[in-house]
Amino acid sequence: MDAAEELAAVAEEVAGCTDCKLHLSRKNAVPGEGPPDADLMFIGEGPGFHENEQGRPFVGAAGKFLEELLASIGLKREDVFICNVVKCRPPGNRDPQEEEIEACAKYLERQIRAINPKVIVTLGRFSMARYFPDARISRIHGQAREIDGRLVVPMYHPAAALHQPSLRQVVERDFSQLPQFIAGRPSPPPPDLEGPSEPEQLSLF
Ligand code: URA
Ligand code: SF4
Repeated sequence: MDAAEELAAVAEEVAGCTDCKLHLSRKNAVPGEGPPDADLMFIGEGPGFHENEQGRPFVGAAGKFLEELLASIGLKREDVFICNVVKCRPPGNRDPQEEEIEACAKYLERQIRAINPKVIVTLGRFSMARYFPDARISRIHGQAREIDGRLVVPMYHPAAALHQPSLRQVVERDFSQLPQFIAGRPSPPPPDLEGPSEPEQLSLF
């Protein structure tokens, strides 16, 4: 199965998934979208109102800002893969719960393995926690770490920057570094079939 087929298979399974209670209230599952060979992958938190309506990630106000940020480094949303840690909307946009994130992780893992991006950008704390469980975003935002043979860059969620104008410039500055992260590294090694990173790799920093 090539990457495009695997992404399509994930999307199809997500659409019918009942593995956590978020399936009960979803209108449309939001598997994520983008090229199967994207160099850059963004992982947000979960679908909001508009995403649930449309079945597409980051189509509301945060998505518009994300598109502006991408434009600032010469990219369009079609150039990158965009998804979330949970594929169904938490009711009322509440935080996703631990067991929901866990139930949904298998889909995210398959997407990462299929795409094998050079750089993963985590948007917000739930995707950051996947790679940096005890970190504080205020300390590590914008810093690239090599994990599982690729760079992972935690960033503030664009919605946070929209609500807190002082964060806007921070996010813009962090974004401006992405081209060098994408260009500066050789292709990552083949995808890690063992799953996500182990603690000894996290201790590199
Ligand atoms: N916020 C997210 O984290 N994900 C989306 O898809 C939209 C808004
Ligand atoms: Fe399945 Fe993920 Fe949706 Fe839960 S959030 S029902 S695990 S696709």
